[in-house]
Amino acid sequence: MSTKNAQVTNRVHDQTLPVQNSAPGAARLIPPALVERLQALNGLDVIPDLDLSRFSRWKIGGTADCVVCPRSTAALREVILLAREADVPVTVIGLTTNLLFAQEGIRALVIHLGPQFAGMRIAGNRVWGQAGVWVPGFARRVAKAGLSGIEHLAGIPGTLGGLICMNGGSQRKGIGDHLVSATALDMEGTLHIYDREQCGFAYRTSVFQQNHQIITEAEFEYETAQDTAAVRREMKRILEDRRRKFPQKLPNCGSVFVSNPALYASFGPPGAVIEKCGLKGTARGGAEISHLHANFIVNRGGATTADVLYLIDLIRTRVQQETGCDLEAEAKYVDALGRFSPAHRVARQWAQENTA
Ligand SMILES: Cc1cc2nc3c(=O)[nH]c(=O)nc-3n(C[C@H](O)[C@H](O)[C@H](O)COP(=O)(O)OP(=O)(O)OC[C@H]3O[C@@H](n4cnc5c(N)ncnc54)[C@H](O)[C@@H]3O)c2cc1C
Repeated sequence: MSTKNAQVTNRVHDQTLPVQNSAPGAARLIPPALVERLQALNGLDVIPDLDLSRFSRWKIGGTADCVVCPRSTAALREVILLAREADVPVTVIGLTTNLLFAQEGIRALVIHLGPQFAGMRIAGNRVWGQAGVWVPGFARRVAKAGLSGIEHLAGIPGTLGGLICMNGGSQRKGIGDHLVSATALDMEGTLHIYDREQCGFAYRTSVFQQNHQIITEAEFEYETAQDTAAVRREMKRILEDRRRKFPQKLPNCGSVFVSNPALYASFGPPGAVIEKCGLKGTARGGAEISHLHANFIVNRGGATTADVLYLIDLIRTRVQQETGCDLEAEAKYVDALGRFSPAHRVARQWAQENTA
């Protein structure tokens, strides 16, 4: 595939991608001249050869050849334009709390919007935040300002940009419920403003999983809390619940599978079903289906991408045999060109290629 094609498809979430088999350290796509030009720009940090097994939330993955961390939309735009000129594929990540990286790492240029891109303002009921704002801090600040509607976000460890892209949330709610507008940069360097409807929010999805654009900031409107102490109590309750139910000590990517309505109605949520299939504690290499919550796969140390793909496919196969329902992964696999794909699809393909 040419890098031009890769640039066009790099953020499509629902295509089945080939599992990359080439060795780590495969030919670089980012020319040294581009790295030099990026390093010469103001308003961003450039990190060459980032070890994803140290950086990523799951502590899994190879090396990302070049990661840039812009501090402003202007710097981000310059990065996009330089990458376009050099015909290099680009991908965007937040805090990687939903991502399984390829063992061979990433040859695309990775844009990380995190703490260095995290301005936030509250005026009355309106809240504005940049894509890199840390969601638990966002929820705390909004609650402290006497607003409500953010309780369900307590303890979700990603960025605002990642959460909007995923329409993440809890208690059957999503971040999109209170969004007024989101601003996003396309691969030509043009900014677009989306209202809530245009964002196409549905359960754990949004238009940003399809349109290859990078969310830079968003504005929300929250309700005035009738009882601020009650909002704080509810957030505390949610946090305590998460601490009790979710594995805290070992690296993981949150719930691996999304809830399936048919499965839920007849058998319960994915974690309970996986547990009933007797899979809690099943391990491969360094990866293990959590003893605490069966919808989590934890890295006990040294887990590889293949270990996780194996367990994802094992879970799906067993759940399908026991219930007739297909689980779909919330976690995304990121291939060497920085393209995203639901992890269960890649897991199936991996299993077909690796079981004789
Ligand atoms: C312990 C744990 C608990 C979790 N609990 C929950 C939960 O209760 N509810 C829930 O919904 N999720 C949960 N998650 C998953 C995760 O936190 C969310 O999906 C989160 O929104 C991802 O944010 P991120 O910054 O880590 O994004 P990443 O994982 O880095 O990226 C996720 C997707 O968002 C895209 N993206 C990131 N930033 C941008 C941007 N600026 N513009 C466009 N696209 C972007 C990426 O390209 C990628 O496709 C949990 C994860 C963990 C580890």
